[in-house]
Amino acid sequence: MAVVMVGMAARRDGTALRMRAVATIAALALCAALAGCGGGAGSAIPSTAARAGRSYTVQPGDTVYHIATRFGVSVGRLMTVNGLSDPRDLRVGQTLTIPGSYPVAALSGAVHERSSAFPYRGMRESRQFAWPVAEGIVSSGFGIRNGAMHDGVDIAAPVGTPVHAADSGVVVFTGRLNGYGNTIIIQHDDQYATVYGHDERNFVREGEHVTRGQTIGDIGTSGRTTGANLHFEVRHDNIARNPLAYLPEPPAAPGISYAAGGGM
Ligand SMILES: [Zn+2]
Repeated sequence: MAVVMVGMAARRDGTALRMRAVATIAALALCAALAGCGGGAGSAIPSTAARAGRSYTVQPGDTVYHIATRFGVSVGRLMTVNGLSDPRDLRVGQTLTIPGSYPVAALSGAVHERSSAFPYRGMRESRQFAWPVAEGIVSSGFGIRNGAMHDGVDIAAPVGTPVHAADSGVVVFTGRLNGYGNTIIIQHDDQYATVYGHDERNFVREGEHVTRGQTIGDIGTSGRTTGANLHFEVRHDNIARNPLAYLPEPPAAPGISYAAGGGM
């Protein structure tokens, strides 16, 4: 039913918008029943390499981002090396290994390095969106996860990090959805829709036109999730696609990194 409804000609009146939203939400509700979000992969760094690293003791007020910036290492690498799947897992007094001090040879065979360099190996679509978060870590990829389908990618970042529209379009839904928490759905001109879940706050209204890159909400922990992250979906005719096929890779997206196994 959902697919048939979305196949209608795109009209810009309220009824069409509402029907599109209903169709997309019907699909989302199904997914939400199957899988929660936020479970990240653990570290794959060999223990011998970890022992070779320089260490740092977490101080009150520190964040993963501040520490990474201070030592000039990427956030994703710092997290992967220390087995952090969520930036909020950081604890005062915790000893972190700073990966910048590794001998290069110690890292060359590490699984997380390959994952960081090649976060997505499949075909890249000609249709491209912008990353909805300027700085974050892809903590979970698209596809079967723990026996359930994960219809999007999770991008971990601190609560309050701005969420941006991946492209211009019309907001067809903003509100709470079971499992997804605070959610925004944007319908684009070409049968594509993007979905933004687990928001702390939504800043846009249904029917509102948004431009690519516009701040539409911020990252939170609403819905079924184990940590602060954006659950991001790309749907075409209401079928969930792998968002990584539709997003630019680093270095075109310098703020984005990948947790071990995050890209799939
Ligand atoms: Zn998710």
